[in-house]
Amino acid sequence: MSNPSILILAGDGIGPEVMGEVKKIITWYGDKRDLAFDVSEDLVGGCAYDKYGTPLHDDTMAKAQDVDAVLLGAVGGPQYDNLDFSVKPERGLLRLRKEMDLFSNLRPAQCFDALADFSSLKKDVVAGLDIMIVRELTSGIYFGEPRGIIEEGNERVGINTQRYTESEIARVARSAFELARKRGNKVCSMEKANVMESGILWRQVVTEVHDAEYPDVELSHMYADAGAMQLCRWPKQFDVIVTDNLFGDLLSDAAAMLTGSLGMLPSASLGAPMANGRPKALYEPVHGSAPDIAGQGKANPIACILSFAMALRYSFDQGAEADRLEQAVEKVLADGVRTADLLGPEGGVPVSTSEMGDKIIAALDASL
Ligand code: NAD
Repeated sequence: MSNPSILILAGDGIGPEVMGEVKKIITWYGDKRDLAFDVSEDLVGGCAYDKYGTPLHDDTMAKAQDVDAVLLGAVGGPQYDNLDFSVKPERGLLRLRKEMDLFSNLRPAQCFDALADFSSLKKDVVAGLDIMIVRELTSGIYFGEPRGIIEEGNERVGINTQRYTESEIARVARSAFELARKRGNKVCSMEKANVMESGILWRQVVTEVHDAEYPDVELSHMYADAGAMQLCRWPKQFDVIVTDNLFGDLLSDAAAMLTGSLGMLPSASLGAPMANGRPKALYEPVHGSAPDIAGQGKANPIACILSFAMALRYSFDQGAEADRLEQAVEKVLADGVRTADLLGPEGGVPVSTSEMGDKIIAALDASL
């Protein structure tokens, strides 16, 4: 049987630096766990524009469709700010998400004990927190028609349309229920069924999918505004939250920040299963290309490394190895190893990007 395939698109700014540490870890899995991957690399974002005049070449797009998982670093930078909208670095990423039809965006909010002081909430509210927000990513108000700014009488009117089909709701609901079965077996669905018809349909379809296919999973419903309050009051009540594109955008950012630094936040975007049963998948840190620290060895590689842990779990069915990698990160943090972004007001001596990667590999070695 051939090895699982990975396409690495490191991108711009700190993307190649943090991805460099992921490449070391991929090599470690081949050498030490007999888990080899066929890795190819290509360009996305500003670096692709510089070489090809487009932020994502058609050949790269075709490769992304063909592999088991895409790992992306970050795109963008000030030198590309004045480019035409159609060739901006972010367009490369949007094209990947759209053409791979990645409808289910997974954003974990996990608080490592060693970093609990970084949260703006009290330590006992966030310590040990481990929730997953599943956001619908390819439909809803960001895509619905009609949209635009029109003239009406003597003033302008801005219009966007919230629109969801039954099948769009059902597929993201399935994604959330499947995930819940691999975690705490609880799903909370959030919408505004009190004021929006699309919310009423959302609640109905999620309930139907649950009753027919996932009766073993505990399902609850919450209005999204109440959900936002509950996330700040007592986030540990949640396991998996499933919600639409707009509410998910807000709730996942809020939940992620409960846990501290941007340099720690991974994400996965999943689509429909391919012929081999694996979902189409793209894994990327939540942060951007951080031009202010690019090229200085200061970037925290953990968000990118934890994104690879998500790939191990969701694309390669290697949950135990994903646990091993997450525990290695936890161990290194517990030992007090910090990149500059993780130093609190008390200061300390930061490690570099590659030193952090090496410490995590040492912790992986120690786990054997
Ligand atoms: P950013 O996430 O790049 O940086 C915000 C701040 O967080 C900066 O001070 C940065 O130094 C810091 N930071 C981010 N990641 C870090 C890490 N791993 N380790 C240590 N510090 C880290 O956001 P921004 O400054 O708003 O955007 C910079 C560029 O990135 C822009 O061109 C933007 O369009 C692009 N961007 C890309 C993505 C993506 O590729 N998915 C996401 C957001 C922004």
